Formats: sequence, C-alpha cells, structure tokens
Amino acid sequence: MDDLNFGKRNKRGDWEPFERISAAPLFEVPTRPVAIAKWIFGWDGYLLPWNLFYGLVAVAVWLWATPSMATMQTLAPGWALFIFARNAAMISVTSGYLHLRLYIMKKQGGLFKYNAKWPSKSSDAFLFRDQNKDNMFWTFISGVPQWTLYEVLMLWAMANGYIATLDATAHPVMFAVIMFFIPMFRELHFFMVHRMIHWPPLYKYVHSLHHANVNPGPWSGIAMHPVEHLFYFSTVLIHAIVPSHPVHVIFNLVHAGLTPGQGHTGFDKIVNGKTVLNTHGHAHYLHHKYFEVNYADGALPLDRWFGSFHDGSPEADSAMEVRMAKRRATLNRKI
Ligand SMILES: [Zn+2]
Ligand SMILES: [Zn+2]
Repeated sequence: MDDLNFGKRNKRGDWEPFERISAAPLFEVPTRPVAIAKWIFGWDGYLLPWNLFYGLVAVAVWLWATPSMATMQTLAPGWALFIFARNAAMISVTSGYLHLRLYIMKKQGGLFKYNAKWPSKSSDAFLFRDQNKDNMFWTFISGVPQWTLYEVLMLWAMANGYIATLDATAHPVMFAVIMFFIPMFRELHFFMVHRMIHWPPLYKYVHSLHHANVNPGPWSGIAMHPVEHLFYFSTVLIHAIVPSHPVHVIFNLVHAGLTPGQGHTGFDKIVNGKTVLNTHGHAHYLHHKYFEVNYADGALPLDRWFGSFHDGSPEADSAMEVRMAKRRATLNRKI
C-alpha cells in the first residue's frame, strides 16, 4: 500500500492526508437526514468501528470482569484492586498492542505516520529522558489508579442505592439511548476540561506534561498530570445525575481510558495486509502540533463554534496565524 495515494510527505518526511478533517453533519442547516444516518451507522462513522467496539468491551467487562453488586456494597481493597488490575490489563492490551505493532515491531514502518521522527529516548522533557517510559509512568502511577478510584466509588454508590440506578430490563430503550450518547457527552466534557487546562497557569503546571508529547505515541494517550486525570475522569460523575446502569459507568470510563491510545498512535491508519483502520487521530495530532486548535475530536462541532477548528489545510494554517497574531497583540496591550 502506498500512503502517497492518500496524502503527501514534506521535506522532513512528515506525512499528511489529502482528506480534510470534517465535523459531524449533526447541526447543519438545512438538516441532511441521509448524511446524518450515514455518519451514525456507516463505516468510519460515529458507531463503527470504534465506539461499538468500546461499548462491547464495556458490556463484556460488566458481565465477566466486575464483582457482583452485593460484593461492591462494602468498600474493600480486594475488589478495588481487582478492578485496578483489570483496567491496567485492558490498557496494556490496547495501547500495548498498538505500541508493539507500530513502534517496536514497526510493522508498517513510517506508512501513514504524521511525524517522520520516532519518539525521543534522550530528552529532558521526559522522566527517565525517555518519552515512552515517561508516558507509561504517568499512565500506571496516576491514570489507571484515578480511573479505578472513580469507578469503585461510582459502583459502590450504585450498589448501595446512594445514586439512582436504571433498571435495564424495565427500560431497555433508555439504556440504549444513554449508551449512544456517552461518547458525545465525553467529548463535550473533554472539550470543557481541555479548554480550562489551556488557561496559562493550569497549562504551565498541569497540562504541559501531556503536551511534552509533540510527537505522540499510543502510551501518550493518558500520560497526564494527576490533576488533569482528576478533571478528565470526572466525566463519569454525569451518572450520579442521570439515572444510569453500571454498564454506563464502565463504558464512560473504558471510553475515557482506552480511546486516547487509539487517538495518539501518531499514525493516520493502521494497516494489516488488506485491512486498513482509520485511527481518527489527525485532529488531535494537530492539537499536539499547534497547541491552540482542535480541543475536541470532531463528533461535535465544538471547535467550529468556538473558532479553534483546524481541518489540516493551508487555509486553516493561515486562519490560525491570524488568531495567534490577534491574541499576541491583545496580550501585549495588557502588559
Ligand atoms: Zn493528547
Ligand atoms: Zn491540550
């Protein structure tokens, strides 16, 4: 397969797709029902393949890898550690597989790789001077523990009836509706948290840790400062307000925990023989490259509404330059 049929490479060897990043057709006027249906149900759309996959993972985890509600009525280290081990295993399988395939075995070399360079193994920007070790450190020392803590507390509260729980047998439609909206809600929540941590003081002390990864890999996904993890995984608190099923809690957190691995691969597509999977990582790659664009991932047109959208084109580059110049001028006036 030749990636030059799908994009172009610059002098440095960085590859970029011809296809521009597009937002979902959800809020277009006039409404285009066929385009919306295609976006929801078509391949490479909202459900297929990724969100359906993470939804099925959540159901499987609830059925076969979650303690009973009776057990979870009492806070105890045994079942909490079990959930920690299962979350650590899940991210090790997903991000670990992507890293092994793309960065250690280099199965597709630089094919569809945005940045021609490989992650740094000698940079002061990272703990141990090694990007990958640094990323895994933050993932396992803070990311998975906080993901687990939120999950344990939410499931414990549900098991005790401290928060309202949805009966999936009595309300199957509501169950499906909440499942459907979880990835969208996650995006809205992430957008708000993300804008907040780009506020200079929070950026400097918190979010800059994640942004040290200007050339991200799968383990960069939830390589974040502990304060960012605290905000990031708070997405699950919505289920304390909206009566939900434990599967919803698990899905929300599985989505928050595992999708960044896919979104930070640094590759536009994963190629395995004739199978080609889009990672949908381009918008967020541009965020890591330019910092002030694409705070969300594109299921909701939030960046368009707030003027921070970058579709990968030279025109978007120019618009970004103008925005930056205006911002610098305002800052200078204030000083
Ligand atoms: Zn990122
Ligand atoms: Zn950011």
